[in-house]
Amino acid sequence: MYDIIIAGAGTAGLSAAVYGARAGKRVLVLEKEVYGGQIMSASVVENYPGIRKISGYEFAQGLYEQAMEQGAEIKYEKVQKIQDSESYKTVHTSLSAYDSRTVILASGAKNRHLQVAREEELTGKGISYCATCDGAFYRGKDVAVVGGGNTALEDALFLSGYCRKVYLIHRRDQFRGEKRLQDSLREKEHVIWVLESHVAALNGTGYLESVTIEQEPDKGKKELAVSALFIAIGQEPDNQPFASLVELDAHGYIKAAEDCRTSAEGIFAAGDCRTKTVRQLTTAAADGAAAALAACAYIG
Ligand code: NAP
Repeated sequence: MYDIIIAGAGTAGLSAAVYGARAGKRVLVLEKEVYGGQIMSASVVENYPGIRKISGYEFAQGLYEQAMEQGAEIKYEKVQKIQDSESYKTVHTSLSAYDSRTVILASGAKNRHLQVAREEELTGKGISYCATCDGAFYRGKDVAVVGGGNTALEDALFLSGYCRKVYLIHRRDQFRGEKRLQDSLREKEHVIWVLESHVAALNGTGYLESVTIEQEPDKGKKELAVSALFIAIGQEPDNQPFASLVELDAHGYIKAAEDCRTSAEGIFAAGDCRTKTVRQLTTAAADGAAAALAACAYIG
């Protein structure tokens, strides 16, 4: 019997593991892929208080090691179902089942897709959701980034370091991403702004060769010859396995407030998977701490 099982080894999940293990609880983290979560694909993090500059990979590695050193366990198994027997919960995974007094859901969010024809077919063949993972394959080539948030701006900046041309496609002429990033991009002549535009088609035989852009307001079409399109249009939750266990909001996020308590006793939600207005590294780490301490208080 574990005290705390944490579903997800991103920043929220690993922060919860640090706090839970330090409180002397028996903690198991279950992760379906690799530890680290979304921050692993950030080339650089410059807004985590107290750390001036660190790569996303280095941040995740440090957090993982910290959680393991404190005594948390990790297993690489996908959580498929959680059975709530009131005094304890049974977490069913792809390989086994584990009992625990409490569960912290820290399942994060997955990349939003453009929903344009051939997007799945061309993923890995020019379509990518991670510039830091795949950008190096396109050294000296022309590429495009779609999106208007910090991720898209950071991706464009990162790719501008070694791609010949970077088109930045955004559906509006205003960005959600930070002004500092916009200003850095404006200084680069080989970054081309394609605003008030949608990606209407993905073209190529086998691999992506160009994207068709539809421009507002006249719906005029234009073709951009690119070897890659980096899609950075935000995330959406992946909470369907928990839909019958805890209440979700209209967008599929787990309903939980700052104390991370869900509608089910002994089940907590931390990080990007829960309803909240700000989804940042700092808020994910803060949620991990709040959820673990709430779980400890619940156990008594
Ligand atoms: P985001 O802030 O939600 O931005 C998503 C962008 O994609 C928006 O500009 C949105 O356009 C656009 N978009 C959404 N759906 C679209 C669609 N179907 N077609 C075309 N465009 C679409 O997502 P994010 O950039 O991934 O950032 C997520 C969170 O992480 C944010 O809070 C961000 O600040 C944070 N973040 C922080 C850092 C950092 O601080 N270093 C780095 C990366 C991310 P509209 O603007 O028109 O809605």
